[in-house]
Amino acid sequence: MVTLGPSSKRFIKTFMVNKILHKGYPYFGSLELTRRCNSKCSFCPIGNEREDLKKGEVGTKAMKHILSQFREMNIVAVSFLGGEPFLRKDICELAEYGHSKNLIMQVSTNGINLHKMMDKATAAFDVIVISLDVVDRELYHELRGVDKYETVLDNIKAAQELSEENKCNIIINTVVCSKNIDQIPKVIKLSKELGVRGIMIDFATFHDYWTEIVSDGSRYNPKEMDWRNERDSVKKLIKQIIKMKRNYPILTSKAYLETFLTEDFDFRCYPNLFCCVRKEGEVAIPCWDAKVTKFYDIVNTYDLKELWFSDEVKELRDKVADCKDCYMHCIVEPSKVLGASSRNLKDLMEWVVTFRGSAFNV
Ligand code: SF4
Ligand code: SF4
Repeated sequence: MVTLGPSSKRFIKTFMVNKILHKGYPYFGSLELTRRCNSKCSFCPIGNEREDLKKGEVGTKAMKHILSQFREMNIVAVSFLGGEPFLRKDICELAEYGHSKNLIMQVSTNGINLHKMMDKATAAFDVIVISLDVVDRELYHELRGVDKYETVLDNIKAAQELSEENKCNIIINTVVCSKNIDQIPKVIKLSKELGVRGIMIDFATFHDYWTEIVSDGSRYNPKEMDWRNERDSVKKLIKQIIKMKRNYPILTSKAYLETFLTEDFDFRCYPNLFCCVRKEGEVAIPCWDAKVTKFYDIVNTYDLKELWFSDEVKELRDKVADCKDCYMHCIVEPSKVLGASSRNLKDLMEWVVTFRGSAFNV
């Protein structure tokens, strides 16, 4: 018999309330801890951002207040994002606080600093997602601007060794860009060899305005890095990944992968599935990156729940009903499997199984 932990029960409750009463409760909280980063990836503006934009992180108390508001919204899982979240010294304290509120705690990291707090981090988080896009030291350096391939690989191995004892799932996240297409099947195979819980496949996303936030002489190079420069190779790769799903722990749904195969980006985006809060303690409505996005301070000014269901926010969401401006894994995949659940029933089931398997005691 399947036993349900507190988070699974909360997930089902939110799912039913959203479906039957047509409410728009989020399932997930994304909390940007910092915009500082110790890498300079050529497909990402954040590590290449102007210094003035990196200022303004709120402190530990304010971050905890945000986590409490997530819990009041019945949010199931929280992901810490960056920049590089492990540049914040209070990261494990914040994860432990989230745990005390029965939130599933996840972090996305480049893995470079993980050895500095390996034991504490694997104990504090349910899921640690570590970026690895290549299996080649020089190419790693070329893409990410730092010579840290071995460090990251060693840290993945060390985290995996502690994963069972500390009840933490280690997941690799790999970002497809124009320069690493032939590397992706190798990273998938490596993920199996390393014994990690799974691998997620993402595609580098580019927004026009991102070129305005980077510093002079930055490494950010959207023109060269765009996977759409190599459409045919990417399509071949996707077919290969779909086949590999049978034998390798690929967590990305077929529904999401097929979006890139058909280039049918005609999906309905449901950004309300996520509650995205940036480092200043401001929630981004309706999502991080829409043209209409507005930011609201939920540390000093607004109560998240009241704001979330206010007319102003509903209007902002209505404005993106037809938005197709991005295809980010974190938003689009849940939009496909949760938003259009009857059409993608098989993927929804696979996704729920993955979700349950991605965190102990959920
Ligand atoms: S992808 Fe991650 S590690 Fe790379 S620059 Fe962006 S935030 Fe930093
Ligand atoms: S598709 Fe549009 S509304 Fe949806 S997450 Fe992307 S930018 Fe936001």
